[in-house]
Amino acid sequence: MNMPVTEILLKWYDIHKRDLPWRKSREPYYIWVSEIILQQTRVLQGMDYYNRFIETFPDIFSLAGAPVEKVLKVWEGLGYYSRARNMHETAQKVVEIFGGKFPHQYDELLKLKGIGPYTAAAIASIAYQQPVPLVDGNVYRVFSRLFGIDIPSDTAKGKKKMIHIATTLLPAGRPGDFNQAVMEFGALQCVPGKPDCSRCPLRKMCLAKKQDRVEELPVKDKETKIITRYIHYLVWISNGEIILKQRKEKDIWYKLYDFPEIPDKKGIEPRKLFRGFLGKHGISYDQHAKMFISEPVLHQLTHRHIIARFYHVYNKKWHFDMDEGNFRVPMDHMKNYAFPRLITAYMEKFPERFQSDNE
Ligand code: SF4
Repeated sequence: MNMPVTEILLKWYDIHKRDLPWRKSREPYYIWVSEIILQQTRVLQGMDYYNRFIETFPDIFSLAGAPVEKVLKVWEGLGYYSRARNMHETAQKVVEIFGGKFPHQYDELLKLKGIGPYTAAAIASIAYQQPVPLVDGNVYRVFSRLFGIDIPSDTAKGKKKMIHIATTLLPAGRPGDFNQAVMEFGALQCVPGKPDCSRCPLRKMCLAKKQDRVEELPVKDKETKIITRYIHYLVWISNGEIILKQRKEKDIWYKLYDFPEIPDKKGIEPRKLFRGFLGKHGISYDQHAKMFISEPVLHQLTHRHIIARFYHVYNKKWHFDMDEGNFRVPMDHMKNYAFPRLITAYMEKFPERFQSDNE
């Protein structure tokens, strides 16, 4: 019963697999970079970043030797920046301890920063042909439908069950190809919602299809709780310069650049908040005409919604009282700094708001 599933999936993969740049070689460095990029990013968008990343850092030595700011700049816009910081740290470790070669064993790979069970399994099976199963959302969907499993995917029991199924199906000769085959099958054929089961090579043995439960599976236990955070950015432009700061908080944007923040006071109307902030710095809102507050900008992350406003000030005569950590840069140097996607998207949408001739 099991072997046909394995054979069918491998055969399907040989015919339908997409021609992706990281599939051209079994070099662990390429597999690692692609897996980390694809953790939170769709393949199409990820491909551009992958190509740019490999062009800038063609091997683990060039990545290890680069300053972290350069790595973040190449990563700019991809989000989840801890991935880039961890990659940089892991590259240095692999160079220092293993002479630039990733370890072969799953358990050894797991000890490296930013490499979880999923990435370790991908490197071990795809680069080194180790028989380690790989379970991600796509794999879960394919197997839960195929075998009619309704144990929630976000429970330990559900994960254990999937690892067991994937291990049973894993062929000794082509474990890496099989892992990629199931993921690709989930991405292209057994898609979320309503897949086209009429052209599926597994349709005759698929329990979800037989029981008319395709759209019900897989089951999730709990819905993710979303937290909303408000940010008020002060965009201060004066004498052709703008004030930036590098983020020191060890959060998702650690070491990226953004603007000084006006502390949030829950429930306070933006104009009042702005007046209060300026008042504290001895500046009156009304006497300086070249100020305005942007519309709210929504930035959605998996577990968090960020609502940001940009408080613009253009002034030739005086400077914002600089706090520690803030610094001034000429406007035309801004392109050298890596910003969170929220900010680059805003700057791309309103380039005229970032012109020094507004002063
Ligand atoms: S028959 Fe439909 S639900 Fe079953 S594996 Fe194929 S695409 Fe998925």
